[in-house]
Amino acid sequence: MLHRDACDEEDIGECDCGCGEVSEPLLNKIIVLDPGHGGIYSGGVHYGFRESDINLSVGLKLCQKLARLGAKVIMTRTRDVNLAPPGSTLDADLQARVDVAKTSGADIFVSLHVDDVPNINLSGAASYFPMGRSSGLASTIQTSLINETCAVDNGVSPADFYVLVHNDIPAALIEMGYLSNPAEALCLMNNCYQNLIANGILNGIINYFLCQ
Ligand SMILES: [Zn+2]
Repeated sequence: MLHRDACDEEDIGECDCGCGEVSEPLLNKIIVLDPGHGGIYSGGVHYGFRESDINLSVGLKLCQKLARLGAKVIMTRTRDVNLAPPGSTLDADLQARVDVAKTSGADIFVSLHVDDVPNINLSGAASYFPMGRSSGLASTIQTSLINETCAVDNGVSPADFYVLVHNDIPAALIEMGYLSNPAEALCLMNNCYQNLIANGILNGIINYFLCQ
């Protein structure tokens, strides 16, 4: 189901597209992509689909697209693994993701998730930024993501998710859709729709740096 290419060799990996694009608007930008969950932490599970798989599949696509535009992309994971050793707490797994950003000197941190709620009628995408800090990165990503996917726009909100509040750099957590909604779950598992999501987030990141 997953489309893995240059990014699947190591748990934490740098993405190298190996191509010679002339236009590199993200040259010298260091971007940490965090496909949420993985390993023993699958995230939401609905209709036989796992959140962790969707997050990773979109993350690998986005990694390639960012690298083609000159960015140095660091993935917190490139396989179905948890980051902290067995027996660790969930907070340790989340801190390991933050540590990737801290040790890599990253410019931005983007965490990828899909939502999972009891109400199966809810649909659409939302972006979150750290409580009390700038909404800029989440806002540019949300705008481009909605433009690209035509998903229901659930807006941009502050939140206290661990990977947001413990990051010192601009950070955004993207809920790309609802796995609990049966129609949207099928979209989220679809290769073409995953590419639309990746293109939307890509354009949002480009716009974010253009505005700096
Ligand atoms: Zn999640």
